[in-house]
Amino acid sequence: MIAIKTHTKEDIFDLNGSVSSSIFEIQKNEGLSFKEDIKYEFHVQKTSLDIIITGKVSTIVTYECVRCLNYFEDEIIVNNLVFSYQLNEEGDLIDLTPDICEEFLLRLSIMPICNEQCKGLCPVCGKNLNKRLCKCSEKKAPSPFDLLDNFNID
Ligand SMILES: [Zn+2]
Ligand SMILES: [Zn+2]
Repeated sequence: MIAIKTHTKEDIFDLNGSVSSSIFEIQKNEGLSFKEDIKYEFHVQKTSLDIIITGKVSTIVTYECVRCLNYFEDEIIVNNLVFSYQLNEEGDLIDLTPDICEEFLLRLSIMPICNEQCKGLCPVCGKNLNKRLCKCSEKKAPSPFDLLDNFNID
């Protein structure tokens, strides 16, 4: 968890570090996995009433391309985070994890594509068309008129 202590000597301080990606309750599935820890850089400002946290979090994830099914890495950076918490409502420790996780989810791609030009897999033979073109694409696309050739019209 990424947490901030509310009772500190200084009212203004920086908080940098990294934490395992397992703090995020994002299901590890075939389409996405974390390649490294979550890095965070926060600036904390405290008054007698509230605590304001600004900064950024970043990490590298491995996606599976929805077109060609190859894995590729992407850096996720969430900049300009601003969180504020009222001190009287919170305990000795403020857990930032749920708020950071929420911001993070918004930055993840639902339809990850390794490259805008990704040609994907051939729907006929399943070859990765980024690596080599298969013979299937050379055949002419079936047209509805082909069917007519099979009819004998007397
Ligand atoms: Zn791809
Ligand atoms: Zn093919």
